[in-house]
Amino acid sequence: MLISVGILFAPTIRFHLHGVFKEKNLSGYFSGEYSIVQKPDGAILTHDQESKHVSLPLEFIPKKEETAKIELTDVTIGINFHWERKENQFFRGNLKIIEEDNHLTAINILDIEDYLISVISSEMKATSSLEFLKAHAVISRSWLMAQCEKSKTLKKEGRNYQSFHQNEQEYIGWYDREDHRNFDVCADDHCQRYQGIHKANTPTVAQAVASTQGEVLCHNHQICDARFSKCCGGLSEKFENVWEPVSHPYLQVIYDADTAFSQRCPYSEETAEEWINSTPDVFCNTTDRKILSEVMNDYDQETHHFFRWEVYYNQTEISELICRKLNIDFGDITDLIPLERGESGRIIRLKVIGTRRTLVIGKELIIRKALSESHLYSSAFIVQKEFNGNVLKGFRLKGAGWGHGVGLCQIGAAVMGARGYTYREILNHYFPNTVLEKKY
Ligand SMILES: [Zn+2]
Ligand SMILES: [Zn+2]
Repeated sequence: MLISVGILFAPTIRFHLHGVFKEKNLSGYFSGEYSIVQKPDGAILTHDQESKHVSLPLEFIPKKEETAKIELTDVTIGINFHWERKENQFFRGNLKIIEEDNHLTAINILDIEDYLISVISSEMKATSSLEFLKAHAVISRSWLMAQCEKSKTLKKEGRNYQSFHQNEQEYIGWYDREDHRNFDVCADDHCQRYQGIHKANTPTVAQAVASTQGEVLCHNHQICDARFSKCCGGLSEKFENVWEPVSHPYLQVIYDADTAFSQRCPYSEETAEEWINSTPDVFCNTTDRKILSEVMNDYDQETHHFFRWEVYYNQTEISELICRKLNIDFGDITDLIPLERGESGRIIRLKVIGTRRTLVIGKELIIRKALSESHLYSSAFIVQKEFNGNVLKGFRLKGAGWGHGVGLCQIGAAVMGARGYTYREILNHYFPNTVLEKKY
């Protein structure tokens, strides 16, 4: 099974073909360094200081699949996240270049199992336990196949995926896959982080993918839309509180431990405060450097305090930030009031009150983007206003977890793997009401 991954979006794309390639419509062979640039009168392909007009799309196909590699230059990873940076990346399979929305897009077309090896390596260090990697292989495969089925259904029904609604009082939306029309998934955290093959040739990851080949999680014989995030903070979130209002019996609230949840569910401000100020003994509450370094690549390790975290903004800072990020003139921000929380304490709707304007925003990712230069760790936070006498000085946000919190908690699952749980036990813990099925 082949899948197409959108890698790079830019006015100019530079790439190096290592090995010999053919192009679907052009004659001759292709090898070495190329650049392609978009001009008003069409695309120009340059190689060895020779330029020619080409019509898009182009698709380069290796003659010898096993040895050929595609190198893409200056690929931005972690777009808009706190660890954004540029890298050269290597890919197997085909390279397709298309034009969409006034820029060029580089797409990598490859076998799903090869993609999985790479995705799991990009997501975390391959030194993690085999059982954890196997669990990850199953959910990454399930998620991917569920997305492919979902876009087929949307196309067949001829409807557009609706993910925003906005009026004078409310701006509520979520980011799912609605914006990918020309490929199956993108290479960033929006879908699944995919960085090509340079970290992929690790025996444990290849073993984890191979030993679970074709295995997916199913509910009622339907492939599960299996989600995952970095750290749930102790409670996982329901799907519908983060994305579209559809309930999945396997994406429910999970207490991330093998004991029962004994606190009060953090729905209200009072219980959310109690929850966020507590340090429950859950799988993802770990400071084990070895496990953390296994689950996170180097750039993720720049972030240590994510199980419980704190951010402070003075009033000027927060007013400037929110106005700029939402592109709305609120004046001075005078209050932030959580109106609705999910089961994990994640805020679904937040009322932003300014001297000029009041607006309710949601869901979690819009809230996280509005309240941080990059992304706030999660929307499971409480708001503490700080005063100097009667004058509002600033806002302290105290939160739990990192990411949307739906489905598998990567840090929790890594801890389970390290403690000897099997991949089936890990999957059963995070995805209730599911069975494992082998699809090919
Ligand atoms: Zn995407
Ligand atoms: Zn967790």
